[in-house]
Amino acid sequence: MIPFNRPSFQGNELSYLEKAIENGSISGNGDFTKKAERMLSDLHGGATALLTTNCTHALEMAARLMDLQVGDEVIVPSYTFVSTASAFMWNGARPVFADSRPDTLNIDPDHVERLITPRTKAICIVHYAGVGADPRRFVELAQRHNITLIEDNAHGLGGQFEGGTLGTFGAMSTLSFHETKNITCGEGGALVLNDPRLIGRAEILREKGTDRSRFLRGQVDKYTWTDVGSSWVMSDLLAAVLVGQLERFSEIQNNRIALWDRYEQELADWAESLGVIRPQIPDTAKHTGHMYYLRFNSNQRRDAFIEHMRSRGVTSVFHYQALHRSLIAQRLGEQPACSIADETARTLVRLPMFNNLPESDQATVITAALAFS
Ligand SMILES: *Cc1c(COP(=O)(O)O)cnc(C)c1O
Repeated sequence: MIPFNRPSFQGNELSYLEKAIENGSISGNGDFTKKAERMLSDLHGGATALLTTNCTHALEMAARLMDLQVGDEVIVPSYTFVSTASAFMWNGARPVFADSRPDTLNIDPDHVERLITPRTKAICIVHYAGVGADPRRFVELAQRHNITLIEDNAHGLGGQFEGGTLGTFGAMSTLSFHETKNITCGEGGALVLNDPRLIGRAEILREKGTDRSRFLRGQVDKYTWTDVGSSWVMSDLLAAVLVGQLERFSEIQNNRIALWDRYEQELADWAESLGVIRPQIPDTAKHTGHMYYLRFNSNQRRDAFIEHMRSRGVTSVFHYQALHRSLIAQRLGEQPACSIADETARTLVRLPMFNNLPESDQATVITAALAFS
């Protein structure tokens, strides 16, 4: 079977891992952590990046930094990973689910605008598939209503929209280095702080609520408990792997874009003839080649396609279940209609996409797809 995803380590990941072990640098805040944070900062125009245990925890840190209170509302997409919503709930707020727009499947700014109430404290957008979710529109919306904009940028490292870098629009943005993401160290994440006023407290929250980071820099002579945080520091062993991946960042991205473009070219006529919808990329978006997906005109057709591909040795997979339909959302009370999110959950399928997908395997995927009618 050709897998949907397979992590690949083709650079210095192993030798850096060895070096971290030799240095005895295996907890957080070591040389590789500093290096990775510098590299991520460079990719975000100099904003401070803090490595975290994963993207879910980076989102929880973001929520914590906002001092959310019970009764506060945070608007999130319905069509996203659970962490985009649960991180805010974990900090006392109520997630409010917005529908997707039909073209990019990103969170719909018109729907978000209608969902804003005096209790709304933040909007968390996701750049689905690494295609910018019209971030300037959300910056304007957040400013007008005096609420915080957060970007869950798990898919979008290195992407751009209207010339701006994804992850630099909100007060904070988060990254994932889970094995399914473009750049990986197995499990990992980062919180990017575009608002420098958040840096000091973010460092404290990540270190169990202590000022240990300042202590390590020699800025205080002992460290003390000053806030209620948690343990969100990434091990330097994982940071070593991450540095190995980040060194090859452009190569990895270019490779994924080449794979993405090939799917797009070879499947276009076939998709058109069957009424299958391909990804729609706005002219002003530079996407990240995070995923290539197709949308069928019914749930039955989508499932038939997955089965067809499986019978030809290709793993293709659906994606999110609409969160406003989940048990947790139902417990929160009546939910706004999110018909595009519903439809996408039923009709979208993703094709194999990973950094070292061999051309011959991709050809097998394409041939298998073209045989579906
Ligand atoms: C993968 C993903 C996450 C969670 O990332 P982890 O690092 O596994 O916690 C959150 N949001 C989105 C949109 C994701 O794709």
